[in-house]
Amino acid sequence: SIYNVVDDKTEVREYFNTEGFNRWNKIYSESDEVNKVQLDIRTGHDQTIQKILNWVKDDGDINGKTVCDCGCGVGSLAIPLAQMGATVSASDISSSMSTEASRRASSLGITTADFYTSDLESVEGNYDTVTCVDVAIHYPTEQMEGMIGHLCGLADRRVIFSFAPKTWWFVGLKKIGELFPGPSKTTRAYLHEEEKVRMAMEKAGFKIEREEFTGTNFYFSKLLEAVKV
Ligand code: SAM
Repeated sequence: SIYNVVDDKTEVREYFNTEGFNRWNKIYSESDEVNKVQLDIRTGHDQTIQKILNWVKDDGDINGKTVCDCGCGVGSLAIPLAQMGATVSASDISSSMSTEASRRASSLGITTADFYTSDLESVEGNYDTVTCVDVAIHYPTEQMEGMIGHLCGLADRRVIFSFAPKTWWFVGLKKIGELFPGPSKTTRAYLHEEEKVRMAMEKAGFKIEREEFTGTNFYFSKLLEAVKV
């Protein structure tokens, strides 16, 4: 229901402004204050980011092109894209995240990336490339098609999107995780059926051109590049 959606978003925002920020800011850094699970997640996430950067490199010049990164976290993707010459507009529902991303970018002397706090659905404009990496885990199934439709509406050329795929194996792992949640509070996590994600992109007028899967012990992410038809 609509109440569920509001609750999910409020919960996600609060989590990523507090405990979630501390946890993920450490994972998305070189800090050695991480446990084995967090280190494994860092490794998997780094691989996803590297795969995206390799696609962008293989395509040639991103210099001067516009990129909109939705749910940018601490800027793990937005920052290297700006360093490659893209003009980046990046946002996150958590102000702790967008502020940290902005701080990291400034400390690296980056002037071509703008970071602000926004819910993905409120992001506006038109960009060559729209990216949204590992954010869909916070979206209930019923919200996915609308979310993908919104991202596609912002993109002049392509969308780069990742999500945790719903396969029997990961569903099982997630159940085990829920039985043993550990000491830290987290948010609800949603896995998504790949077929539904692909259909939502096609419905929005996009065609899947490239794909990758990244899996470590605790990190699973399917990555798609969809290009406007
Ligand atoms: N995309 C970044 C990356 O790959 O490094 C961060 C990934 S992190 C697992 C998920 C991020 O999505 C968090 O920073 C969270 O605040 C953000 N997020 C969750 N729901 C969101 C929403 N509805 N709108 C914008 N950001 C959202």
